[in-house]
This record gives sequence, structure tokens and C-alpha cells, in this order.
Amino acid sequence: MPITVKALQKTGPDQPFRVAQIERRDPRADDVVIDIKAAGICHSDIHTIRNEWGEAHFPLTVGHEIAGIVEAVGSDVTDFKVGDRVGVGCMVNSCGECEQCRAGQEQNCLRGNIGTYNVEDVDGSITQGGYSEKVVVNQGFVLRIPEALDFDVAAPLLCAGITTYAPLATWKVSEGQKVAVLGLGGLGHMGVQIAAAKGAEVTVLSRSLKKEEVAKELGASRVLATAEDGFFEEHRGEFDLILNTISADIPVDSYLGLLKPHGVMTVVGLPPAAQPLHFGSLILGGKVLAGSNIGGIAETQEMLDFCAEHGLGAKIEKVGVHEVDEAYERVVAGEVHFRCVIDTSTFDDAEVEA
Ligand code: NAP
Ligand code: ZN
Repeated sequence: MPITVKALQKTGPDQPFRVAQIERRDPRADDVVIDIKAAGICHSDIHTIRNEWGEAHFPLTVGHEIAGIVEAVGSDVTDFKVGDRVGVGCMVNSCGECEQCRAGQEQNCLRGNIGTYNVEDVDGSITQGGYSEKVVVNQGFVLRIPEALDFDVAAPLLCAGITTYAPLATWKVSEGQKVAVLGLGGLGHMGVQIAAAKGAEVTVLSRSLKKEEVAKELGASRVLATAEDGFFEEHRGEFDLILNTISADIPVDSYLGLLKPHGVMTVVGLPPAAQPLHFGSLILGGKVLAGSNIGGIAETQEMLDFCAEHGLGAKIEKVGVHEVDEAYERVVAGEVHFRCVIDTSTFDDAEVEA
């Protein structure tokens, strides 16, 4: 029997969220049923459900930073049992057979990974995300949440954590390197903590100095305001690596100028519009411009364990199910310190509107 649950849903890009009833599939033999305790609000949820990345499939529930407790398991599930603390990130399945999947890079599945929401699932339905009471997920895409991490603090790690951990690992960020984190939002604040834990000297590049104090608490050694006159000239050639988490248009060439020769800008922020680039900004100084898409399942588990070991976690603001529209406005305005997380217990008293 399918499972009926409450979920936050939008019927169109300009509609408010409403509490709806949706169905989760009848668990298959290799599925895990998760009672969701916390669901993070990622800027990708906003880009998607506002149609900023193309037309979304409505009615839609988003959310790919999910933490909760195993409520039931299918007959073939061996790695998880009822009561386990678990998480789900941006993917809920992939082909499992292509070279990328076999190499633990399910996010780059050659047949396309199945995203946690807004993607056609193997049964033809559209996946529905984590702003919800429960979710049913293939066991291969379920992560273990270490005891040291509370659900609220852990949920954002499932996207913001892995998305920043993976490129910092790919580019081997280490002791003494000068790393700039561009944009101090949900992703950026995890990037600062992880890069600092790896021993890098971290500078936050934010639009203003408003977040200076808290950035330093996260492990940054300094904060620079990018909107100040002369910023790009003054800081030319300073950084080994820039982790770019900005969700909006940026002057890419100017930022590449902040790198040392052979420096790397790794891009995770995905603004809706194409960003112009002059090849000269890469050629002069032999610089590297790279992208990074979340991370594989094994690496996501490694990241969760790393965060638990180093005492890292998201700095969060809890919101109830009726506060999500307002939270979106605050995320877009850059006002959240640093991730809004939906307290799913607030579904209990919420009336179903559809
Ligand atoms: P977020 O919390 O809104 O943070 C984005 C930050 O970008 C803001 O805090 C702000 O930093 C800066 N920013 C926003 N608007 C700006 C503007 N007009 N000019 C300059 N800076 C601006 O968003 P997030 O959840 O961290 O996500 C960031 C981006 O990463 C989004 O585009 C999201 O879709 C993308 N993403 C990509 C992946 C991936 O796998 N590659 C995964 C998850 C998310 P300051 O206030 O410090 O200036
Ligand atoms: Zn995300």
C-alpha cells in the first residue's frame, strides 16, 4: 500500500506553499521508509520551484537535505534497520552500472541520476522531495548520520556539506593554502568550516562586512567586502583556490584575477543565467575554472563522518511549515545565518489544504 503523508507543495512558481497530502510508493524490497525529522532549505529548491532553471513539474514538493529515522525496511535491506539515524541528499537512485556509478560517482551517472525531486522516477512518477513527513528511498542512497550530529544540524550537510566537501577534496585543499570562499550562505558557511578543518587559511568574500564576526567563528581568518571600491585590484593574485558558491550573476573575469598563477576557481553556485567569460582570464596565469556537482554516496558518508569527527555542522534557523515562503525571501536576500531547516514536527498540527 502506498503511504499517504503531509508535504509542502506548490502548484506553480508564483504560488505560496500549501500543506498537501501526497503518496509515497509502496516500499519495494530494497527500500527504506524514513520518518523525516528535519529538512533543509537549499537555494537549489528555490531556483527549481520558481522555474529559474527551466519549467518544473507542478504540483511539486522540493527538499534534498533530509534527516530522520528509519521507520520500516524492505525484505532485502541489510544495511539499515528500524530506528537508525539516516539522511538523504540530492539523489535517490542511479543506473548503478555505468562507469561513473561503478566508480562511486553516482551524481555523474551517464544515464542521469534520479534527483530527490522534480525528476522522472523509474516508475514514471515525478520524485517529490523532503519538505514532508516521510520519504521512501532505495537503500543505496541512504546515508548514516553519526550520533554526534543532531538532525537539524546534519540535514544541510546532505547537500551544502557534500557540495563543498567534494571540490575541496578534489583540489586537495590542505594546510597553509590560501582559500577564498565566495558567498557566505548555506554552502559557503560549510565550505569555510571544512576548508579551515583541513588547515587552509580561509578568507570569506562577501558583499559586505555584515557577516564578519560569525565568519570568523566558523574558522575564517578574515572577511573581505567585494562591493568595496578597488577590491579586485587590491587583492589580485592572492588565492590558491576560490570556492564559488554564489547563486546570482558575478563578474567571473574579475574573480579569476584574484587567483595566483595556476590557481583554481571551483564553481558550485548555479545562477540561472549564463555567465560571460574571457578566455584571457584563464590563459594568463594558466588558471583553472572547474565545476563540481554535489558528490557520490561514499564521499557523502565520508563527509558526514568528517564533520562529526571535527565537530562541524550547519548553523541553522528552524522554521515551521507555515514559514517557508518567508524563509525563501530571506534566503534570496542573503539574510539567513546560514541555513533554514524545516521542523517537520510542525506538520502535526497543520491542516491539509489540498
Ligand atoms: P544561499 O544560502 O542563498 O547563499 C548564496 C550566497 O551567495 C549568499 O549568501 C550571498 O553571499 C551570495 N549572493 C547572493 N546573491 C548575490 C549577488 N547578487 N551578488 C553577489 N553575491 C550574492 O544559497 P546556497 O544554498 O548556498 O546555494 C548557492 C548556490 O549553489 C545556488 O545557486 C545553488 O543552486 C547552488 N548549488 C549547487 C550545488 C552543486 O552541486 N553544484 C549544490 C547545491 C547548491 P553574501 O551574502 O556573503 O554576499
Ligand atoms: Zn541543494
